[in-house]
Amino acid sequence: MTKSTLPANEEEWKSALTPAQFCIMRQKGTEAPFKNAYWNHHEKGTYYCAGCRTALFKSAAKFDSGTGWPSFFQPVSDEVIRESVDTEHGMVRTEVVCQKCGSHLGHVFNDGPAPTGRRYCINSASLKFIKD
Ligand code: FE
Repeated sequence: MTKSTLPANEEEWKSALTPAQFCIMRQKGTEAPFKNAYWNHHEKGTYYCAGCRTALFKSAAKFDSGTGWPSFFQPVSDEVIRESVDTEHGMVRTEVVCQKCGSHLGHVFNDGPAPTGRRYCINSASLKFIKD
């Protein structure tokens, strides 16, 4: 998908996404843990942004965090992710969004495994997996 074919406004996003995806990706919602597509998914491949199909995470960087959400210790590259401070729900967290399309992906924490020590806690609804 090229930049020019991305939805131009939230109305267009609404028709391009499922209701659950719209809530999570465009309104910063969070899906239920352990009841989502990829939390326990172990195939080898790549997780793409469900909004713009940018490659975001490789299965080799996925780990079992025990949280019930797909968790990664690093993105494909630092350029594909943008971080911002999120003070919703009485917590200070670091939100991660897709650099290309601005869709909410999840949050990143500093309690992840080696080699990065980071834990990208991502909503399955924001991802589209494609097998190698
Ligand atoms: Fe995207």
